[in-house]
Amino acid sequence: MKKENEVKTKCIHSGGNPDPMFGAVMPPIYQVSTFAFKSAEQGRKRFEGKEEGYIYTRMGNPTINVLERAVAELEEGKYAYATSSGMSAVSTAILATCSSNDHLICSSALYGATRVLIENELKRFGIESTFVDTSKKEEVEKALRKNTKMIYIETPTNPTLAITNIEWCSKFAHKNGCIVIVDNTFLSPILQKPLNLGADIVLHSVTKFLNGHSDVIGGVLITNEREIANKLENSLHLFGGTMDPHQAYLVFRGIKTLALRVLCAQENARKVAKFLKNHPKVEKVLYPEFETSKEIKSVIKRQMKGPGALISFELKGGLEAGKKLLNAVKVATLAVSLGGVESLIQHPASMTHSSVKKEERLKAGITDGLVRLSVGCECAEDLIDDLKKALDKI
Ligand SMILES: *Cc1c(COP(=O)(O)O)cnc(C)c1O
Repeated sequence: MKKENEVKTKCIHSGGNPDPMFGAVMPPIYQVSTFAFKSAEQGRKRFEGKEEGYIYTRMGNPTINVLERAVAELEEGKYAYATSSGMSAVSTAILATCSSNDHLICSSALYGATRVLIENELKRFGIESTFVDTSKKEEVEKALRKNTKMIYIETPTNPTLAITNIEWCSKFAHKNGCIVIVDNTFLSPILQKPLNLGADIVLHSVTKFLNGHSDVIGGVLITNEREIANKLENSLHLFGGTMDPHQAYLVFRGIKTLALRVLCAQENARKVAKFLKNHPKVEKVLYPEFETSKEIKSVIKRQMKGPGALISFELKGGLEAGKKLLNAVKVATLAVSLGGVESLIQHPASMTHSSVKKEERLKAGITDGLVRLSVGCECAEDLIDDLKKALDKI
């Protein structure tokens, strides 16, 4: 079977069989906080971990477990934990594996809130960090310290779409006693599987592609290592970033069409990116397919199945022209977030990355004129036609 067909089938069937009670084809939503024990004996055994079964939803719930199994299968990992938001996946992963006086090496153009969390909040707990261009090996090597515990990567980065070599970073990290976390939100397991490239933990904001319908906030953590899984589970249960069963049901439902949506949005994005690149009012377009470095091109070929559906670009008129464009487009919605069936357009410097200091933003390549477009599943011609009309007005 062609790989693309396999993945479509997997999206629809991963996570399990019909419900054993009534044969319901979709999992029932177990909207409960607690589960009754048949006897005091049974309760004791469950708490001791000597008997399988549910206790209390913060520590596990059948609907949430169905989603976790589905995501684990798609990422080709053994253990998955659903969380209340993407940020709770990020914070749980770091709090579970790092302690005070540990040091992190992070991609400089991270999701805005992740950067602020690591830089400001974790600093209060004595966790240090260095932000570097992780697409450059020498910068990662230079940032290594005796107490470095983790390399935290987003690839492609948000919003500059720079590519980091996951396999190299994982080897480098493991040689130096560190672990690697990859935020795989931008590509989804349809286009990139970091665990197979050596990453220790993969995380997602399922708010984006996995759910895909802009109606849920959620996250997920996946790993292959039992020891790390125990730490994640422990931290999730104690810090309390658990997902809700209804949220889990909706995300599971969204995953059924994940491959269809991602591949459709990617085809659209390829067309839109090409249109923008050839437009006289566009200064530059950031899209993995336009990468010119030979080395990075070979990394893209090895670790990604496609360029994805996110495009960042800058107009010749800079910020002012960008603002006019945002106000003139009609098909793409002016909103932050990404990965939904609808196209979304936003301005990183004043929106998603406004809480990052300006000098840090510029260092990460987030110029004031940069516009980010998350291409959805509308008709590509409609998107292009609309952008053309909006650009004509500038
Ligand atoms: C949205 C996003 C997050 C945070 O997820 P929430 O669900 O909003 O908490 C983290 N990383 C990336 C790359 C994101 O796009």
